Parts: sequence; C-alpha cells; structure tokens
Amino acid sequence: MSLDPAASVFVAGHRGMVGSALVRALEARGQHKILTAGRAELDLCNQAAVEAWFESQKPQVVVVAAAKVGGIHANFTYPAEFLYENLMIAANCIHAAYRHGVQRLLFLGSSCIYPREAPQPMREEALLSSELELTNEAYAIAKIAGLKLCQYYRKQYGVLFHSAMPTNLYGPGDNYHPENSHVIPGLIRRFHEAKTGGAEAVSVWGTGSPRREFLHADDLAEGCVHLLGVENPPDWVNIGCGEDITIRALAELVKDVVGFEGELKFDSSKPDGTPRKLMETSKMKALGWQAKTPLREGLVEAYESFQAAQDN
Ligand code: GDP
Repeated sequence: MSLDPAASVFVAGHRGMVGSALVRALEARGQHKILTAGRAELDLCNQAAVEAWFESQKPQVVVVAAAKVGGIHANFTYPAEFLYENLMIAANCIHAAYRHGVQRLLFLGSSCIYPREAPQPMREEALLSSELELTNEAYAIAKIAGLKLCQYYRKQYGVLFHSAMPTNLYGPGDNYHPENSHVIPGLIRRFHEAKTGGAEAVSVWGTGSPRREFLHADDLAEGCVHLLGVENPPDWVNIGCGEDITIRALAELVKDVVGFEGELKFDSSKPDGTPRKLMETSKMKALGWQAKTPLREGLVEAYESFQAAQDN
C-alpha cells in the first residue's frame, strides 16, 4: 500500500532536528494533514497518555522521529536514560499505532544499531551479527528493540510498520550543547567561539582517525517521505549519503567553513568510539532515492542556522 495523499500523518518528535525536517518535507508536498503534539501536551514515555492521544486524534500514518539523542559523551554518560526513554517512546508509539489501526508506521533508528566490527560499508544484514560499540550500546539496544517490534507486528498482524536507519545526521535545529552534542554541532560551536574569542587553538576529541558518514536532516526527511510511498518496503533500510570522512578532515572542513585561522589540537583523552561507520545504501538506491546535499554546502547552511539561533 503506498501513502494515501489524504492520510493524516503524525510526526512524533516534530520539534527535533529530524521531526522538523519531516514536517517541512511533508508541508512542501501540501497533501497531508500533519498532526503534532508538543512535550507538554503529550509525554511519549507515558503509555496511558500515548493511548489516549491516538484514541482522540486517530492518525492514519505515523513517523516516529522522537528520541533522546546525543553525541558520544552524552550516550556514554547517561546510558540509563538513553535506553529507558528510547525504549518507552518506541514501545508506546508502535503498540498504540497497532491498537488504533494506523495504516502505516515508519520508525527511525540509527547506524549505531550495527556491530562495532561490522564489515564496511555496513549492510542491513549486519544487524545482531556481533557485539555493539560500547559508547552507544544503550541507545542502539532501544533502537534495535523498536525495529524488531515493527518487524514482529508486521509479521504477526500484517500491519505496514517498517524502519529507516539513518547515518550520523546534522542540519538546522541541531543540538549545539558544548558536551552533549554530536561532532558537527560541537565543532561548529567550538570553532565559532574560538574565532570570536580570538583563541589560538581548538580541541577536537579523540585521535581524529575515526571515519564517519554525515547526512543532512533535509535529505533524511526526503528519504523518509520517499520510503513512505514505497509499496512493499524492507523491514529496515539504511539511509546514508554513501561517503565517509575522517574526523580530522571533518574538523578541517568545519574550521574552514567557520573561518577560524588557528590550530587543531587532538584530545586523545576523549573516546574515539567506533572506528568507522559507513552505510551500504544500495537498497535505498534500488528503491529510487539518493542523498543530494554535498557536505560543505550543508555545513555552510548549518553554520548559518547556528548563527541565526545565537542572534535570537
Ligand atoms: P558517534 O558517531 O556516536 O561516535 O557520535 P559523535 O558525533 O558524538 O562523535 C563522532 C566522532 O567525533 C567521535 O570519534 C568523537 O570522539 C569525535 N569528536 C571530535 N570532536 C568532537 C566533539 O566536539 N563532539 C563530539 N560529540 N564528538 C567529537
């Protein structure tokens, strides 16, 4: 069943970077009635509240973009909250969608569901083939549970619940917290503050040698909307851009985009995390979709949105 143009779509997590990109992508199509609920109105960790919300709003399509997210430091420091909150959001949304006859549900996960030593680029089949990376194990386990819950409801009850696994993301509305953010917003903030404060060097966590792939949130949103129109989607599919770079090269690029002229200092007391994370994206390509934002272009835009947020 492809996406009914008249369907009402609930974007869970619409204030986050991914959820807000999804709302923009759906609005640009101008077809669907988009349903949203702020945190004060609906606590997705509260099963009774989620049940009551589905009962009263009756969404026909659901995209679960809500999650507790953070970078390597936040994931490693708060594993209890990362597992608990993400597990509750997944279980409550997926079960309520099943109980209330939702036509189609797309659950968003992460590339960290794949094992630390998965062959690169990582294929969908690498799931649960060996141990996870420890720095984000809690988050990964919650996302694996959500993916499996969709797969099992689909298998057992024939509902069209499926998942997308995006690679590392960045874009407007990102979290720029100095410690808890991901690498791109962390570096944008640090280079910007070094430039405006006249510092001579900027610290980059780890050795600079890990490799990561980065996808713009608007590309992910386009990919999700495309996937929602696919008749018989895979239970889970990777969404990436197909290219990775070292953290050192990324830091040089961010430095250049921000216009900082000092030095980089690598702080090897901070963890590197998994050595490489590159998605194998041929399944999404075969479904007719490919990412389009070049990294430099996306970083320029991300820096502009960071500055606009600072001005506000
Ligand atoms: P990960 O993909 O789960 O490891 O997510 P992150 O985006 O947090 O980190 C990616 C890589 O960038 C890791 O090797 C980090 O050590 C490195 N890194 C370098 N500087 C920073 C920074 O300022 N913040 C974060 N979060 N990571 C950084």
